[in-house]
Amino acid sequence: MLEPIATLSTLVIEKLSGGITAIGINVPGHSQNVMNQVFMQELEQVFAFLQQNPPRGLLVGSLRDDSFLAGADIGQIDTVRSLPPARLKELCDNGRNLLGMFASLPWPSVAVIDGVCLGGGLELALACDLRIATEKHKTILGMPEVKLGLLPGWGGTVRLPRLIGTGPAIELIASGDAITGSQAKTLGLVDACVPVHSARESACVLIEQAIATGDYLKRRSELQLPHVLDKPESDFLLATTGAVIVGRTNGNYPAPMVAFNTIMQGATQSISEAAALESKAFSELAKTSVAKQLLRVYRLGERNRSDCGLGKSAQLTPNKSLRVNELQKPSIVGAGIMGAGITARHVRSGFVTKLVDINAETLGQSIPTILQEAAWDRYYQKTNQERVGELTGRLMSSTQLSSIADTDIVIESVIERTDLKRQVLAEIESTVSPSTIICTNTSTNPIATLADVFSDPTRFCGMHFFNPVRKMSLVEVIRGPDTSDATVASVVLHAKRLKKVPVVVQDSPGFLVNRVLTPYLHESVELLREGVDPSRIDKVSRRFGMPLGPLELYDMVGLDTAFYAGLVMANAIGDRIDASPVIPALVKAGWLGRKAGIGFYTYKDAGHDAKIESVNEKLNDLIDPYRLAEQQTTDEQIRDRLFLPMLLESLLVLDEGIVRDGCDIDLAVIHALGFPAFRGGVLAWGDFLGAAEVVRRLDQFKDLGPRMKPPARLLVHAESGRPFTSVEESESHSRKAT
Ligand code: NAD
Repeated sequence: MLEPIATLSTLVIEKLSGGITAIGINVPGHSQNVMNQVFMQELEQVFAFLQQNPPRGLLVGSLRDDSFLAGADIGQIDTVRSLPPARLKELCDNGRNLLGMFASLPWPSVAVIDGVCLGGGLELALACDLRIATEKHKTILGMPEVKLGLLPGWGGTVRLPRLIGTGPAIELIASGDAITGSQAKTLGLVDACVPVHSARESACVLIEQAIATGDYLKRRSELQLPHVLDKPESDFLLATTGAVIVGRTNGNYPAPMVAFNTIMQGATQSISEAAALESKAFSELAKTSVAKQLLRVYRLGERNRSDCGLGKSAQLTPNKSLRVNELQKPSIVGAGIMGAGITARHVRSGFVTKLVDINAETLGQSIPTILQEAAWDRYYQKTNQERVGELTGRLMSSTQLSSIADTDIVIESVIERTDLKRQVLAEIESTVSPSTIICTNTSTNPIATLADVFSDPTRFCGMHFFNPVRKMSLVEVIRGPDTSDATVASVVLHAKRLKKVPVVVQDSPGFLVNRVLTPYLHESVELLREGVDPSRIDKVSRRFGMPLGPLELYDMVGLDTAFYAGLVMANAIGDRIDASPVIPALVKAGWLGRKAGIGFYTYKDAGHDAKIESVNEKLNDLIDPYRLAEQQTTDEQIRDRLFLPMLLESLLVLDEGIVRDGCDIDLAVIHALGFPAFRGGVLAWGDFLGAAEVVRRLDQFKDLGPRMKPPARLLVHAESGRPFTSVEESESHSRKAT
């Protein structure tokens, strides 16, 4: 029977039978247990208590479901970033020394890891003598600090390599990926992986064994020793893991490489020397602009996770008139590329999902693809066939719309023809119940054009996914003229349950993402017409940090799709950016991009996964009739010509109130276009340059016409020196605080 002997605000000390003491973690005010200042102070108090009340063994676990300890409080990391490096080092040393107390106590300690165990949480578990993880799928272990531009600063780079080996430790720390309990067992990171109900009992058995054999003391001293790598081993790690890190980060994210070097150097040193290296590396990384931007992007993500996306008016009246439904019975209409991807995401997220397509053959072909995708195991990078079997029962398909009558959300994803969409949407409304929410995945139709077929348009909105659905996390939730707040908030919540990042957008041509993408794509073709080599344009963009260059992106999207989307955009913003004559010429030539095996580039095969062979040699002949005067353009000018128009369009989007603030723009370009997170998004990049510098750079392109003209908002910022992101940042902070 448990006997609580001390209850602090974040920790509870309990006496178990057999002289074992348990420390239970329960940090209030956060969705996960986190290591904030109070927690660290109370941990110190617990150690003092234990010195005076020595147990035979110690068990450390969580009192909350699914959350062991999710690491340091990110808000506090953000605050300490501004401290001088010496103070930062001291904070690392203090935290590491505190956790190190576990390893200096005279009795054995076991961490029982049930739920999320990340960052500092895993460092605490590593400081214990033994670890048990539960088999639950919500139990994950990892050190994600590199994703914030940092490295583990409380002993992670010192203890982990000594426990599981240098190579696996580098892989875990430099990737920032999390692993399951059973994967942790395979790596030797935990001593056992057991069902939740037997975790405590197993921990007590381990403690008794440790006391009986005294092995834990031997293990402790072994883990203090340097982990010397012989030359071939260290050369191998440099050539493999080191090279992979360089390839993955493209030199733009310093943290993984710093972690690699810190672990390699620390492995051959005493534990205290390795710890000093860790503190130094942490304090240096914390000062980089990459860490600053990644922490901001994290905060933007947190805001997105915690609100309903409706802006100030809805924030001020939470739930008073807002009926947010947690939707349970989704249906997708249209089993093409997008419909199949959306269905797979639903099935993967645990929904019993209905899929309708008029074409029985398409439907039949899509089912295995959907199940394979839904059962994809990211860690092993292959489909988990056992899971395919389990998921089969969650997917129902039909060629009849009547089969979705009992659904509570329908996502229409049929072909992009306005007349057909209107007909299908009207039919859906007459089939489902009056409370069912109906969404369209249209890319180019104004929501208003589709909304007028509804007898109740308040329950209708856009839910725009990006291709490929499995990779692209953004979803634009587009308000029609009559869409209700409740519909928007319910769809936002639904997107989150699909583990997507929803951004609420007003109905406007190109919505948000295609609107800010258009000037960037357009400029790449203008550069081509001036004689710049296609691969040079793409290289400059990739060097900036984009996953694909603009011409590679054209080829991936498909030139026919791009042509059609370009027409819609030219109608809307043609005063600044007109439709390029080059795109229809490519379409006419049948050079539709990757799917045709030829576009701006030629491909080894045709299809979505085709690899580039070379630049299309006949491209110059095709462009010749549309040539512009040749310019001498530097790489820096190419970069500015591609990205400054994206920034200008974003400022216009803000003026038009298409999104509630700039935070949503930055989040959207990162999640939909792969805009480099280390730059913090397009507006944060603008702030990095400074508005006055942006105006100065635009001046050299003034002969290019209205598309390079500074908009009024830019001039105001240049005059005042106020950053583009400042208002939203302070607002989002104050919203969080209230
Ligand atoms: P697709 O051509 O691959 O699939 C469309 C499917 O709709 C086909 O399987 C077709 O049989 C089915 N269909 C046609 N009429 C139907 C009806 N009356 N009832 C049920 N099913 C019907 O198209 P896609 O690329 O998947 O695009 C679907 C929607 O997603 C479009 O609105 C498109 O604009 C949008 N979208 C596409 C992309 C993209 O990159 N492909 C990206 C974002 C959004």
